[in-house]
Amino acid sequence: MAGQILEPGQIEAAANIPPFLHVPGRDLFRVRAERLRQLAAGHPLAGYLLLVAVLCEAQQQVLDNPPALPGPAPEAVARSREHGMPPIAFEALVRADGWLAALDALLVRVEAITNPAVAEAVQQLKIADTAQRKTWGVALLSGQFDLLPPAIAPFVGAALQVAFSHWLLALPDDVIVESEAKVLCPACGSPPVAGMVRHRGKYNGLRYLACSLCSCEWHYVRLKCSHCQESKHLAHLSLDRDGVKGEQAPIRAEACPNCQGYLKQCYLEFDAEAEAQADDLASLDLDLRLSEEGYLRRAPNLLLAPGSE
Ligand code: FE
Ligand code: FE
Repeated sequence: MAGQILEPGQIEAAANIPPFLHVPGRDLFRVRAERLRQLAAGHPLAGYLLLVAVLCEAQQQVLDNPPALPGPAPEAVARSREHGMPPIAFEALVRADGWLAALDALLVRVEAITNPAVAEAVQQLKIADTAQRKTWGVALLSGQFDLLPPAIAPFVGAALQVAFSHWLLALPDDVIVESEAKVLCPACGSPPVAGMVRHRGKYNGLRYLACSLCSCEWHYVRLKCSHCQESKHLAHLSLDRDGVKGEQAPIRAEACPNCQGYLKQCYLEFDAEAEAQADDLASLDLDLRLSEEGYLRRAPNLLLAPGSE
């Protein structure tokens, strides 16, 4: 649209088109930690959720005072813009050294947690060399969860999230472009952790997919599988909680009979405080139900590799 002169009607129409992208605020990990603390109240997995909240607080501290985290060169970002590719594509950046300082900084922050399992995982990561750490990072982001010890996965995931959010927040405007298939994050190329169905103003009823890695959100039409893009016969499954009926459940899984996959959706209309990663971790009973029905979880949550306790 650059250089084009708009007529008054077109200006109004353009102003009403919701942006395809939402970049999170600089306090994203604090917001997530607060939501986890809120969800922990009276929750059967309270201890676990509170531990993850502490990890998110450590992530925020590293993001607030980041070590040097060399990201993509400006020329590489410009090139990806030209080709419509994600500017901070994870495949390349996880294999480079740039994110490793985020892991070191995070390990210093989480050392204070008095929990034997955490202490052991931190020790294991501390003595691991660069090659080993990168191998684990690559395994986690490519969904090969059996290639890294489950106990260390949340810390590797947390460090990668800090680095990628740091790079995301430093990107110049307009370098992130909508991809054709729209099933992967247009900034880093990762799959979504959940969908967010918004409820306010011009966003009312629109769904955005929340990135599992860098935490940006991109628009994706509703009633369409976010894995295989099938629109037919999608089922919406939820758990009856506290007398809340299914159609008013704040979190529902969109399950696809075509690919047998599912993705959880947070309906902000029924819980305006929902946060994709936090609400995902607090609703693992819904995953259990989906698994019993034969559906496969497609969404990674980098703070919980399958097999983790
Ligand atoms: Fe992303
Ligand atoms: Fe599907």
